[in-house]
Amino acid sequence: MPIALITGCSSGIGRALAEAFKAAGYQVWATARKTEDVAALQAAGFTAVELDVNDSPALERLAGQLEQQGGLDVLINNAGYGAMGPLLDGGVEAMRRQFDTNVFAVVGVTRALFPLLRRSKGLVVNIGSVSGVLVTPFAGAYCASKAAVHALSDALRLELAPFGIKLMEVQPGAIASSFANNASREAEQLIGESSPWWPLRDAIRARANASQGNPTPAADFARDLLKAVSQDNPPRLLRLGNGSRAMPLMAWLLPKGVLDYALKKRFGLRGTL
Ligand code: NAP
Repeated sequence: MPIALITGCSSGIGRALAEAFKAAGYQVWATARKTEDVAALQAAGFTAVELDVNDSPALERLAGQLEQQGGLDVLINNAGYGAMGPLLDGGVEAMRRQFDTNVFAVVGVTRALFPLLRRSKGLVVNIGSVSGVLVTPFAGAYCASKAAVHALSDALRLELAPFGIKLMEVQPGAIASSFANNASREAEQLIGESSPWWPLRDAIRARANASQGNPTPAADFARDLLKAVSQDNPPRLLRLGNGSRAMPLMAWLLPKGVLDYALKKRFGLRGTL
């Protein structure tokens, strides 16, 4: 039975992927960082493990457990969140936390599990985002983190190739999940009267909620991702979900000035503050 490990399975994409891979006959190691989520995953029949992706000792323990219990064929680096809000309101601290989880942990988790993937000639799946391609205001830290995931995925794919390990980068569009709830919570921490962007608070809130306007169901996303993983040669890059093709196309085809105009209009940035 092939073994898949998925980070961030408490909700949304991670949970849907766990369900899809289990239904396809994988033994799924579903990780989550809260005890109650781990218990729920266990109750649903997964091999559930508590893991904050920034916790290096926990990662080492997890690698040891996997080693003892059969190895690893597919690693899905899914855990992540959106540090929404004006870039300068969040400052370096918010950006550092965003990069810890969305970027550095992708390298940390993959590094810890590399020996197992090397043995199985396995597959790494990195969840990027369309937001790393079409950058919007009030999501600067998040967009930068996902652009970084895309860049490091390109490097990793090449560096892992000599070991027979494949890497697939996924750029989801809008997918139904708890992402917007969590992103809104992040934004609310920054929204305050002392912010120079206080008059644009509704636009900031709209950006935090943008992914849930007309989202693709997470189960559909998971089904299509599983289909791609099941191919002999999984694609290097997979764009899935609402807007995942149109938005990169806009980013490439529209002159910067036109894109700026549209984004300023959409997010109330045309006037003076
Ligand atoms: P979600 O429902 O909020 O799920 C995010 C998952 O990541 C949760 O399980 C969360 O755990 C976990 N997580 C966050 N920080 C973590 C940490 N430090 N350690 C371990 N787990 C952590 O949102 P989602 O949409 O499914 O997001 C999954 C991935 O898809 C993310 O990388 C996101 O950037 C990406 N993505 C989503 C969309 C979309 O439209 N939904 C679009 C493009 C890309 P907790 O419950 O404990 O917070």
